[in-house]
Amino acid sequence: RIAAVDGTINAFLHVSAEEALETAAEVDKIRAAGGTGAQALHPLAGVPIAVKDLIVTKGQPTTAGSKMLQGWMSPYDATVVEKIRAAKLPILGKTNLDEFAMGSSTEHSAYGPTRNPWDTGRIPGGSGGGSAAAVAAFEAPLALGTDTGGSIRQPGAVTGTVGTKPTYGSVSRYGAIAMASSLDQIGPVARTVEDAALLHELIGGHDPKDSTSLPEEVPAFSEHARNHQLTGLRIGIIKQLQGEGYQAGVLARFQEALEALRSAGAEIVEVDCPSFDYALGAYYLIMPSEASSNLARYDGVRYGTRVLPEEGPLTIERVMGATRAAGFGEEVKRRIILGTYALSAGYYDAYYGSAQKIRTLIQRDFEAAFEQADVLISPTAPTVAFPLGAKLDDPLAMYLNDIATIPANLAGVPGISVPGGLSYDENEQGLPVGIQFLAPAREDARVYHAAGALE
Ligand code: GLN
Repeated sequence: RIAAVDGTINAFLHVSAEEALETAAEVDKIRAAGGTGAQALHPLAGVPIAVKDLIVTKGQPTTAGSKMLQGWMSPYDATVVEKIRAAKLPILGKTNLDEFAMGSSTEHSAYGPTRNPWDTGRIPGGSGGGSAAAVAAFEAPLALGTDTGGSIRQPGAVTGTVGTKPTYGSVSRYGAIAMASSLDQIGPVARTVEDAALLHELIGGHDPKDSTSLPEEVPAFSEHARNHQLTGLRIGIIKQLQGEGYQAGVLARFQEALEALRSAGAEIVEVDCPSFDYALGAYYLIMPSEASSNLARYDGVRYGTRVLPEEGPLTIERVMGATRAAGFGEEVKRRIILGTYALSAGYYDAYYGSAQKIRTLIQRDFEAAFEQADVLISPTAPTVAFPLGAKLDDPLAMYLNDIATIPANLAGVPGISVPGGLSYDENEQGLPVGIQFLAPAREDARVYHAAGALE
């Protein structure tokens, strides 16, 4: 399937057919032998999986979608990769992304854009467009993504797939190339809510190699995904995440989702989260600030490809300058400059400090909302997939696509995007709409319950 369609879709940056077939053969052998060996196999053993190229893998290149890491081979596996290898899921390869996961369309990849399988003239979302498109195009039944401001959920929404951003700290970040460490989370991408839940069960859990890892055991999310009875569940519509800026087709599918949830027994209420209006502003200060610090290591000396200046003396500073000028793309440079500015002496309190205060207000909005509702609901993204190139010259318009996904990252709470049907334009072209559920931290089971019932 990858050979047949990926020339057009460009979901994969690297395909590891040999390794995948070896793992599959091992699983076949264990199954054929039967007995305790076969019984001990994980339920997902033998199910192929694609891995976002921000997550490091031994024996397969990891580029982060950047020229800076072209040809780089990690000497170790990320914890989530260790877990999927141990459970014998054949790894199909590494998927495309916006460079260092900065973007909402996968057009900022140094290796060309990924195309949306629903309409190859449109974007697959981002930054994890490769993982979402691979699943949507039936190139892989499962994938791993990372979500710092929506990069699992928004691609899920615009490709008609399911994607979860777990509670911050519930899935190890060890081996996920850091973008904004206080926001980053690895999570599952799948075709059904139950598949996502099964993969989440496998990759979750405490990891001593991640200092922010939570100590809890992983609940049986898949059981919650299979419980379609919503009687007594209070679902809160977030007043701030609807209406202006959301396409009519998106809002129509959202209303239908509310009706379906009501008929499944849920009680629908409305909650007010006034500080969400400032979430995008706070995110685009905190995220670049952390990224500017995290990306300082790619200087051609400690990490990254090395580019020498074309002329003049070979001082360390000039080698670092030439390396970063050639190795990073426009969007990454824009964010490093933004972040460095926001952190600079004299501006720190005004920008970074204010953003951190807004972050606290957003957490309080969530706390208040979760007193009135068990889960919250919104459209995942304000629009359906837009045409390639449509927002490339307008970073603000691109950033606005994350308006509904960002609050969860700022508060560390879990979120899921589940397909909510198609929106039709005047040409009768149907494009997927995503519905997002959010739950309190450590209550990821609730998003699987609600999303499973809606599916
Ligand atoms: N689109 C958002 C950004 O550009 C989110 C990225 C992400 O979640 N990795 O920052």
